[in-house]
Formats: sequence, C-alpha cells, structure tokens
Amino acid sequence: MVLTVLTALTNCLCFSLKYSQPSIVKGRTDVVAVTPWLAPIVWEGTFNPVLLDSIYKPKKISIAVTVFAVGKYIMFLKNFLETAEQHFFVGFNVHVYVFTDRPKEVPEVKMADGRQLTVRLVPSSKRWQEISARRMELIQKLIDEQLRKNSDYIFCLDVDSKFHDRWGTESLGGLVAVIHPGYYLDNRSKFPYERRSASKAYVADGEGDFYYCGGAFGGILEEVYLLASTCRFNFEEDAKNGIEAAWQEESHLNRYMWINKPSKVLSPEYLWQDFKARNPEVKTIRFSGVIKNYADIRPNV
Ligand code: UDP
Repeated sequence: MVLTVLTALTNCLCFSLKYSQPSIVKGRTDVVAVTPWLAPIVWEGTFNPVLLDSIYKPKKISIAVTVFAVGKYIMFLKNFLETAEQHFFVGFNVHVYVFTDRPKEVPEVKMADGRQLTVRLVPSSKRWQEISARRMELIQKLIDEQLRKNSDYIFCLDVDSKFHDRWGTESLGGLVAVIHPGYYLDNRSKFPYERRSASKAYVADGEGDFYYCGGAFGGILEEVYLLASTCRFNFEEDAKNGIEAAWQEESHLNRYMWINKPSKVLSPEYLWQDFKARNPEVKTIRFSGVIKNYADIRPNV
C-alpha cells in the first residue's frame, strides 16, 4: 500500500512539469517520424527530452551497454567511455560491459554515481570477421549470466565511435534499430543486404524496409536476447555451409529486423560516420563512427 502511494506520487512528477503544448498538425515536415508499422523514428525535434526523462526517472531503470575492444580496437575505448559519460543516459543507471583481450589497457575513466564498468575477458582472434561474429554469442551469454538480475534495457555499440550529443530515454523501446547513414536516401535495391539465397541472412530483391547499422542496436533484454540468439544460430548455419554473409552480423541483423520489425527506429543521428558530410535533415549528430585506417587496426585485412 505504502509502495503504491509512493509510486503514484513519483509518477505524478511529470504532471507538475511545464512544457510546450504538443501538436498533431505542427512539427517537422522534412523527415518521416513514423514507420508504416507505426514505430516512432527518432529525429531531433520530434521529442521532448525533459518530459521523457521525467517519465523514466521514477522507474529507476538500468541500462546495460556492451562494447567490444579486441586487439588494437582498445585504442578507441577511452574516447568512447569519456564521451558516453557526457552524453549517454546522463543521470541514469548505466553499466558498461567491456569485452576485451587486453584488460590491462582498459583506461581509467571517472564515472558518475550510478554508473559503472565491468571488464569481461575474451580470447584474441586472428580474423576480425570472427570477433564481429562472436559478439552475438557473448551478448546472449551476458544476458543469461548477468543482466536479468540487474538491467532493464541493453544497447550494443561499436567501440570505434564517440558521442557528441544526447543519447537518452527517447531511444528506449522493445527492439531498437538505427538507420545506417550511408543508404537512407537510396532505393532498397542498392542496400548491401546479403543477396545469396543460400545464406540465412538473405533478403530478396524488392524486400526489406531500411538498411540498419550493425554498430548500434538494443532494446529490452528479452528482445535483444532473441535477436542475438537468432543471428548467432543463422551465422553458425551459414558457416557450416561455408558461407560468410556480405557484412557478417550486420547482414544477419538486417534480415532479423526485416522479419521482426523494430518497435523504435533511431534516425542516422544515432550513428553517423565522421567521414560523411552532414545532410541538411540531420540537425544534430549524437554518435558517430570515427575515421580509421583498417590496415592499422585489424588483425587481418
Ligand atoms: N572489433 C574489435 N576488434 C577487431 C575488430 C572489431 O574489437 O579487431 C569490434 C569493435 O567493437 C568494432 C566492432 O567490432 O567497433 C565492429 O568492427 P569494425 O568497426 O571493424 O566494423 P565496421 O563497422 O568498420 O565494418
């Protein structure tokens, strides 16, 4: 009873908040903010961050983040972690899980209250394709072994990236995908889906919705668990048949997201590429992949 009253009281907080009146006829007209299956597409100017935070704050949510820094990719971790402190779910409980074969090189980054980092040891690999492929298996294991006890949501992010602006509660959803910045203006016939029908990542001509990034996805634990276990299974089936999908796990993720539509779609603001000039509809870049020289960082090219 006491708990119910307390919850009701804290839930009331957002009603004392003053914010501008929502409209259903005025808003951004240069971008589409909802998919044909009625999932929001998150763009700057389509949400009120203060209002959203006030709704999620009383729920005391916990967000897990996975980031892989295997081999020389450890060099990207400091920037990733420092910028995450400035922009990623500021003021919320965040637990970053770093998967690495170089635990001694994990940088010391001061984290705010309610935020922590755990290092999980993974073996090194001679092939970057393998590192990328094993991510799904390790995410699945992490959810099984650890996260069900302490997290509500999970985001799986590429380490060779950094945050520039808010990434927060507006991104929460059941199954969350990010639209790839490189293809969203193209006809889907140009999307780099896996096109061989023998592959479990196959998407036929004339199929598919968007081209999503392999470098950022998330959602509630159960949805991400299903995604990771399915992609892992399909990847292993392909391997048995001597097939490696065009863009490895990104190809499998794209097939998965076509069959299991994401309930929230993040615009390319949520994973831009530093080498790309910003398009006019992109009012802010929140997270972006840094420019890298593959020959310097990958164990094989
Ligand atoms: N990765 C890693 N070590 C490697 C290769 C990849 O830790 O040798 C991880 C890292 O988290 C990276 C992600 O896998 O961000 C995706 O790999 P990569 O950036 O090379 O793929 P791209 O997005 O460039 O195709």
